[in-house]
Amino acid sequence: MSAKIIAVANQKGGVGKTTTTVNLAASLAERGRRVLVIDLDPQGNATTGSGIDKARLEQGVYQVVLGGTDIAAAAVKSESGGYDVLGANRALAGAEIELVQEIAREMRLKNALQAVDGQYDFVLIDCPPSLTLLTLNGLVAANGVIVPMLCEYYALEGISDLIATVRKIRQAINPELEVTGIVRTMFDGRSRLVAEVSEQLQQHFGELMFDTVIPRNIRLAEAPSHGMPALAYDSAAKGARAYLALADELLARVKA
Ligand code: ATP
Ligand code: MG
Repeated sequence: MSAKIIAVANQKGGVGKTTTTVNLAASLAERGRRVLVIDLDPQGNATTGSGIDKARLEQGVYQVVLGGTDIAAAAVKSESGGYDVLGANRALAGAEIELVQEIAREMRLKNALQAVDGQYDFVLIDCPPSLTLLTLNGLVAANGVIVPMLCEYYALEGISDLIATVRKIRQAINPELEVTGIVRTMFDGRSRLVAEVSEQLQQHFGELMFDTVIPRNIRLAEAPSHGMPALAYDSAAKGARAYLALADELLARVKA
């Protein structure tokens, strides 16, 4: 069976994209699925958060996208996460500029993924908080998008932009692309504003909302500095349990 390829995306910064990618990957691995994480962000947070030293990374997603190497050669194992990582760091970010001159520049990641088809059940792509050519490669390669978001005042506006982007990509290049689900992150149900926005989201997006919400949880913020997903750092933590629940909901949703 082909892998389910999911981009974790939101143009807004700091909404929990990387935290969701890493912890969902670890949770899917815990459930026995074969997972590849692709770090499309030159900040390399998903790489570091998976316990991989980004400073020593020799090959990563940029070499793959530029055609210098293939995924099987460039991916490394996250021991703490139980999944593979196609990493990134700042030194590799020049690819973004080089890529502009390449032919079929937005298809590069999709084409590279064909070589590992069948080796993974899930590919999770951590996107940077902007619509770069790399993000575009992620959205073209993907068949689903998970959108992490905060329940704050402008949330609805931000998410409408992203959904419009997904629609454009679907019409122009990738008819397979759909929104897999929207996940509320850093959730604090005691706040009235959060509860109100959450209610609006339910009304507006209905089925697209994951039932699972990710609470604000200090362990989720601490774990990356130890190079671990929360499940490895403190498996009993509320945040780790929430991402396991999200993985189960995702598995039920995509029937994988
Ligand atoms: P960027 O847009 O910069 O890539 P991002 O969307 O990937 O950001 P994260 O890096 O995952 O967001 O999260 C932003 C910050 O919030 C990080 O310091 C992270 O550790 C923290 N964080 C994320 N989720 C939670 C949570 N549920 N509880 C507490 N802290 C969290
Ligand atoms: Mg990030």
